[in-house]
Formats: sequence, structure tokens, C-alpha cells
Amino acid sequence: MSELKTILQNHIRTHGAMDVASFMDFCLAHPIHGYYMTRDPFGRSGDFITAPEVSQLFGEMIGVWCADMWMKMNMPERFHLLECGPGRGTLMKDLWRATQNIPGFHAACHIHLLETSPVLSSIQQENLLGLSVTWHKNLETFRADAPVIIIGNEFFDALPIQQAIFHADQWYMRRIACDAQGDFVFVRGEILMSEFGDGHEGDIREFSPIQDDIWQNFLSILGRVGGGALMIDYGGDVDFANDTLQAVKAHQYKDIFDDLGNVDLTSHVAFGRLKKMARLQGLKAMELMPQGVFLQNLAIQKRAEILIQKNPDHIKNIMSGLERLIAPDQMGNLFQVLCVYDKNLQPPLGFS
Ligand code: SAH
Repeated sequence: MSELKTILQNHIRTHGAMDVASFMDFCLAHPIHGYYMTRDPFGRSGDFITAPEVSQLFGEMIGVWCADMWMKMNMPERFHLLECGPGRGTLMKDLWRATQNIPGFHAACHIHLLETSPVLSSIQQENLLGLSVTWHKNLETFRADAPVIIIGNEFFDALPIQQAIFHADQWYMRRIACDAQGDFVFVRGEILMSEFGDGHEGDIREFSPIQDDIWQNFLSILGRVGGGALMIDYGGDVDFANDTLQAVKAHQYKDIFDDLGNVDLTSHVAFGRLKKMARLQGLKAMELMPQGVFLQNLAIQKRAEILIQKNPDHIKNIMSGLERLIAPDQMGNLFQVLCVYDKNLQPPLGFS
């Protein structure tokens, strides 16, 4: 039995049935046994592959987007570029290389990485050797004393969510308890006063105070100092997702209660809610755009052609990476792009 399973069983025995977000938090972020704390999960040999790991074109395009955003912000002499959940640091590395010829951009840019995992932070350090970077475990240490550009790929889906379940005309908190054998089972917790509206017996709605809290922090910062944010993730234009909590191990879906701490737990992001929050803050929020359309609007194909001219031997790799990022049946439609920005600015690249 995994040590994390024993820790969770003891916690439930002592404190009672556990909410889904706390369960996710234990499994992902426990200082000794948490999934993200102990490993590098990315890539072909890892549990899942993310867009920056598929092809350098991804980070390069995000770099082009950031440089354009900076220009639309009137090229401030000093600004902060905050990447949330940077994984291996690959996106930032590619972004930085792609923007090296933009006069003034590197000199003005202060790089910040928001990252909780010590394992990944040290991989980021190796990959970004030579760059001046400030790491943050949470937003308390991030001082926004200049305009900010915020980017994040597959960041929100890694943050814990709560679930509510509909029963006999009421929404209840969904909790996790242990059965007589010590196995984990879902149970109904307390009644929730919620904005979920009506439902059918057994319906599930997901919500995430942690996502909302971090996003609200970003929005307040953008409202105060100006700038914009680009968040890419799988999810949809809904206020609350249905039952999307899932476990992934070695590119396959697993039972969320199996192999605790060794499987990744993720959920679909409810972008509709994030968009509404941005508008309430007085920011401009574009309608969601599929990743494939967004990258093509940024001329990713043109960039791929140039890359092939320079590296003709790599044509197969470059083309398959491009295909993976933009094809509607691969990452192109599954991933969506949310863009919010200071409403005094011209619309960012890719959305105008
Ligand atoms: N953006 C990367 C990695 C995505 S995986 C890529 O596309 O390859 C999610 C990332 O978010 C990991 O780096 C993980 O360690 C980080 N993370 C998870 N929870 C976090 C939190 N609460 N605060 C900051 N980073 C977090």
C-alpha cells in the first residue's frame, strides 16, 4: 500500500470525510509523496506531453505574442513577465530565444516563475541558465511595480477543484471517505449554498476556490499596473465543469483512487467563469479561441517553414510537431486560449 494512502486514511479517520480539493492537494503537492514534488512528469517517457515539449514552435509563438503585447503596452522600459507552472522551463527558453532580436524587449523584461515543485524548479534553473529569473512559490512574493504579462500553459488544470453533487433538490459538497476495507469512496457532505442552478439527481459541478483566488489575484494586478494574460488549457466556455476530474499515468487514464501520488490528477478548466471574473474586474476578455486557430493566426506555419529551411534534416520532426499542436483532432481543438488585457490597449496579436 502506498504511504500516501495510509496518510490519507489516517487523515480521514481523524478529521472526517475529505473534500476533493484537499484530496487533490495531498496527491499532487504533499511535500514528500506529492506527484509534482517528486518527479519530472513530462515528455514521451513521462506521464503526459505538453505543447512546449512537443515542439519549440509553441514557446516561440508565445514569445512573439508577448513581444507584440509589450509593443501595444507602449514598450515600457521595465515590465514583469510571469509564467505560471512552467514545468521544465522549455516554453520560457524558446520564448526568450525567439525574442532576442526585438530591440529593447530583453532589457525591459523581468522574468518571474510561479512554481511549487522543487524538482521542477531545479530543472528550470538548469534550462534557463544565464537568464535572470525570480522564482515564487506563491504570489505573496511577487511585487508588481511595473506592467505585467502573465502566461500559463496547463497551469489551471493542475490546481485542485471541488465537486458538488445534486441530490433531492439540493447541491451537496462531494467528499471522500474510507469504506470498511479502507478503500476510498465518494460520499455526500454538507449542503452547499451555490450558484449552480437546477440539476438532475447525481449531476456533478466542479468549482475551484483556489483557481478563482489565483486568477482574481492576477486580475487585480492587471487592473492596477496594466498588461495582459494568456492562459492555455483544456476546458470549455462554461461557468462550472461537470465531472471532469481524471487521473493520468503513462499517457493512459486511471482510477483516481489508484496508485496515489504516482498519477497526475487534472480537470477541465471552466474558462467561462474566468472570463466573467475578468470582465467584472473591468478588463477586456476575448472569447475563447482554440489553440490551433490561435497559433495559425500567429503564423506558426511560416515559422515552421523557416525552421525547415535552416534544418532540412529535421523536416519530419518539425512537421509532426506542428501537426500535433494545430490539428483539430490533436491539440488544436482540445486546448483553448483565454486572453484578457487592459481595455485601453489594442487587441493582442492573434485575436484582432
Ligand atoms: N507549463 C508547463 C507545465 C504544466 S504542468 C508545460 O506546459 O509543460 C503544471 C505546472 O504547474 C507544473 O510546473 C507544476 O509544478 C506547477 N504547479 C502546480 N500547482 C502549482 C501551484 N499551486 N502554484 C504554482 N505552480 C504550480
